[in-house]
Amino acid sequence: MTFRLTCPVCGKRDICEFTFGGQERGPRPEQEGLSAEEHFRWVQFRMIPGGAEPAQGAGQRGWRQAALQQEWWYHGQGCGVWFRTTRDPATNREVEGDGGEG
Ligand SMILES: [Zn+2]
Repeated sequence: MTFRLTCPVCGKRDICEFTFGGQERGPRPEQEGLSAEEHFRWVQFRMIPGGAEPAQGAGQRGWRQAALQQEWWYHGQGCGVWFRTTRDPATNREVEGDGGEG
């Protein structure tokens, strides 16, 4: 399955021109004082102690990664620019109108 990304310099290009740079995880929590499990959660799920976590109620799978995710991409076969985009992992489609910072 292929899809396209929008490079801020070149415009829409096929995904094969890009290298995935990882998911935007937001600010890094202070590592001192984090338990191994807490650190793992931050790495895997961007959960930090005291932050919003999925409900642990009965029947909940505790999995809410269906939301949009922000990702870093590198246009290696193009202009060589790193950029961040918002993508819906359910459809692999870019989402227009990244809410931006703040
Ligand atoms: Zn480019």
